[in-house]
Amino acid sequence: MTEACQCSPDAGSEPSEIHVQSLGRNVCPTNGRQGKLVDTKTVMAMLMIPLTHVKPAQYYFCREADCPTVYYSTDGQIFNETYLRERVFQKNPNDGSVHVCYCFRHSANSIHEELESTGKLTVIESITNGIQAGQCACEVRNPQGTCCLGNVIKLLKKLQIEQQHI
Ligand SMILES: [Zn+2]
Repeated sequence: MTEACQCSPDAGSEPSEIHVQSLGRNVCPTNGRQGKLVDTKTVMAMLMIPLTHVKPAQYYFCREADCPTVYYSTDGQIFNETYLRERVFQKNPNDGSVHVCYCFRHSANSIHEELESTGKLTVIESITNGIQAGQCACEVRNPQGTCCLGNVIKLLKKLQIEQQHI
C-alpha cells in the first residue's frame, strides 16, 4: 500500500484543519459504513438541542436509510433524527412528506401533487432558478449540508418509473 509520509501531519495544511487520517476512525459507529464529512456549521444549524453539545471534532453524515445515526463525530458522539430540527430525506425513503429540497421545500408528495394536477415536473427548474437567484442555503438548510439536486434527480427517476406503472 502507500508508504507512510515522514513529514509532520500539520505540514502544509491550514492551522485550523484537523485531518483524521487513520482508516476506520471516520466510519459510522452504528453501521460501520463510511459517512460523508459535513461542516460543523451544518450540524449546528440542524440540532434542536443546546449547541453546548457541539464538540471541536469533525462531524460526518451517515446517509444509509437503514441506520438511525444521522451525524457522528470522530470522538464517538452520535446524533439521530430526534435531536434534529428536520427530518432527513435519506433516512425516510418511503415517507413522501419528508423534504428532498430543504431550501425550497419540495417533497415526493409535493412533486406527486404537481404531477397529478398539471402533468408537469417543474421542481428542477424551481430549484435551479432559486440557486441562480442566490436564495439557496444548503449548508444550513439541508441535513447533508450540500445541494439537494442529486437527490431530487434520483427521486424524479424513481417517481417517473412509478408513473409509467400507473
Ligand atoms: Zn450510520
